[in-house]
Amino acid sequence: MTTSPEEHIIYDGRIKMPYTWAAGKTSSYFLTQLRDYGRLWGTRCPDCAMVYMPPRKNCPRCVVTDTTWVELPPRGVLETFTVVHFSEPSLQPMEPPYIYGIVRLDGADTGLTHLVSEIEPNRLRSGMRMEAAFKKLEQRRGEITDLLYFRPEGGGRQ
Ligand SMILES: [Zn+2]
Repeated sequence: MTTSPEEHIIYDGRIKMPYTWAAGKTSSYFLTQLRDYGRLWGTRCPDCAMVYMPPRKNCPRCVVTDTTWVELPPRGVLETFTVVHFSEPSLQPMEPPYIYGIVRLDGADTGLTHLVSEIEPNRLRSGMRMEAAFKKLEQRRGEITDLLYFRPEGGGRQ
């Protein structure tokens, strides 16, 4: 048996790499407030008054670092959305089709990307009013998924 020096053997494989990372001061406050109280906090720039959700320590427009906290209501407007038909259980346990949306909470100038549920995809419209659905207190872990998803304001299908 001879071996060609040009032969390249290729294997298909997946690498699962456990890792940890520090959320940082701003995200840690946001996540602990979400976990402990089901509250959503954004940050406001002292110069341009822009309200960021998710919160940012810095305003990228003004290059200031002293944004202040502002509590936002758990409701707002669906800015845009997409329906996902691809299954990747290791990344997203939702069964397709599922919906990702960008919801701009009332009082915020930027939107939060998250799951949207309790509505058929063909009934979704940009501009719809949405409200947050949270995990039960005892199930929260200080993760963005403590906010389960957004649903039509007043409740989606039950
Ligand atoms: Zn600013």
